[in-house]
Amino acid sequence: MAGGVGHTGRRGRRGWIVGAVRKRHNRAALVGGRRAVDDEFDVVVVGAGPAGAAAALTACRAGASVLLLDRADFPRDKACGDGIAAHAVDVLDELGVTEAVAGYAPLPALRMIAPGGGAVARALPRPAYTVPREVFDARLVAAAVAAGAQLRRHTVRRVEPRADRVVLDGELSGRVVVGADGAGSVVRRALGHPQNPDRHLALAIRGYAPALPGPSEQLIVTSKARWPAYAWSFPIGDGRANVGYGEVLRGEPLSRAYLLDRLAALLPGTDLATVTALRAHHLPLSTHRPTPGQGRTLLAGDALSLINPFTGEGIFYALLSGALAGAAAAQAPEEAARRYAHGLRRRLGTHLRHSSVAAWLARRRRVVDAAVRAARRDDRVFYDVVELGLGDGRLTARTLAMIGVGLPGRDGAPRR
Ligand SMILES: Cc1cc2nc3c(=O)[nH]c(=O)nc-3n(C[C@H](O)[C@H](O)[C@H](O)COP(=O)(O)OP(=O)(O)OC[C@H]3O[C@@H](n4cnc5c(N)ncnc54)[C@H](O)[C@@H]3O)c2cc1C
Repeated sequence: MAGGVGHTGRRGRRGWIVGAVRKRHNRAALVGGRRAVDDEFDVVVVGAGPAGAAAALTACRAGASVLLLDRADFPRDKACGDGIAAHAVDVLDELGVTEAVAGYAPLPALRMIAPGGGAVARALPRPAYTVPREVFDARLVAAAVAAGAQLRRHTVRRVEPRADRVVLDGELSGRVVVGADGAGSVVRRALGHPQNPDRHLALAIRGYAPALPGPSEQLIVTSKARWPAYAWSFPIGDGRANVGYGEVLRGEPLSRAYLLDRLAALLPGTDLATVTALRAHHLPLSTHRPTPGQGRTLLAGDALSLINPFTGEGIFYALLSGALAGAAAAQAPEEAARRYAHGLRRRLGTHLRHSSVAAWLARRRRVVDAAVRAARRDDRVFYDVVELGLGDGRLTARTLAMIGVGLPGRDGAPRR
């Protein structure tokens, strides 16, 4: 299933359609002195990562004609830790995509080293997976195409909202456009929203290395020196691990050499000489988000800054927001932004509020040290922290209290 995914290619190869896509018009004429666009669809999705594939799939299922655009051919790589949380698998199950993690070993446990050096290692409530994005994303795109989306290679540069549709590059149009074009989103910029500012934007580098010896677990090593920052090693199950390092930006540029130094310092068991396919990318954190939609233009996934501020996890939020955007886009185009905002608020609003507060608290290293100590003592605290960091969980009063009693006293020594 992970094999190549068909594209219509650039101009000249239009019309490659899988499934029952209802293509509305295909014309080029002068209408009211303005050149009409060539291709019109109910929904055009810009970007075919997890958010875009989920949006296209959902809109197709609702009966819309859907064009899915990406600047890359699939399969394509994406700088990522490749960690697929159980919550992401849940969304895929709801979408009927049951093979996205097939063939990859479940990772049953998580080990986290706190900035102060304390550690917690526990079984995850439900296993996670490490699936290279080259495979994972191609599987999702194949599912969207199988549902009827027309996939086309095209780099969007110009977004022009009109009263009854949104026109892209003067040649394509959708009654609704979903911007799922990632951290550097062109669609988001067209709506007047710049990239996230420092402190709400992280930068991370990842590569592939021989897996560390020891139990099969997700390893996260946080850093006292540059908190909030951490390195990770996520075993894939084929003898390799996805390894990386990232930190929240604070106004100074971070070089590739610096990121690699930090990776080597925090993962001493990984020899940098063995790390391949190194790539860095921005992570727009959900502590600073634009409005999810304006008129007939919606934003999903990284384009909407939906990355968890603790963990850098974004695939679950990309899939969920993409699915909600696709459903709203297909339902009633003139109501799309309002319906989408409502759906997002209902599904993720409380979580996003709680994770923002928790991220603010966690700016203090000693709070994270206390949280790791509490998670070691108490499995409910561990589960709460996992739900908050990987899914749609909340910061419960009990967990806050458990962390609070472990904060250092006046003498600086941890109380518990
Ligand atoms: C180093 C690193 C490690 C990470 N680790 C994890 C992890 O382990 N687990 C996790 O859940 N999340 C992780 N994340 C976050 C995760 O990668 C993102 O949240 C996720 O990819 C968001 O999906 P998306 O569909 O919104 O965007 P993307 O996956 O970025 O997809 C956007 C798509 O849009 C296309 N595109 C962009 N511009 C245009 C354009 N102008 N025209 C046409 N197409 C365009 C791109 O080619 C791309 O295919 C990590 C991020 C980084 C940088």
